[in-house]
Amino acid sequence: MASKKKRKPKRVAQLAHRKLANKERKRTADLDRLFALGPGGSPQSPIPVPTPVLIQSSAEAMPCPLCAGRLRMHDDEIDRTTEALLRIAHCKCDGCGVPRKMWFRIQPHVAN
Ligand SMILES: [Zn+2]
Repeated sequence: MASKKKRKPKRVAQLAHRKLANKERKRTADLDRLFALGPGGSPQSPIPVPTPVLIQSSAEAMPCPLCAGRLRMHDDEIDRTTEALLRIAHCKCDGCGVPRKMWFRIQPHVAN
């Protein structure tokens, strides 16, 4: 029987992995921050839509900021923390599975 005692320098691999994970986490955090600054990323910059019917298609038209995968909206709710008519679209990325919230403002009379 061949002995399978050959050990890999596990520690080194672990360290490398951790370093990569940290880097990846940082990148993800950066992208998240960037998304939060853009349209729909926060209650301060909601995307205007004339009717709530368009929330889903607008939310799903946005690619995942982390992996450019497809976002799917599974729920939406009225944001009661603000006075404006804001809706929160709860999405999840098909690619990386990261949940994402997007803010929309119902603006029935958008000037053309
Ligand atoms: Zn993704």
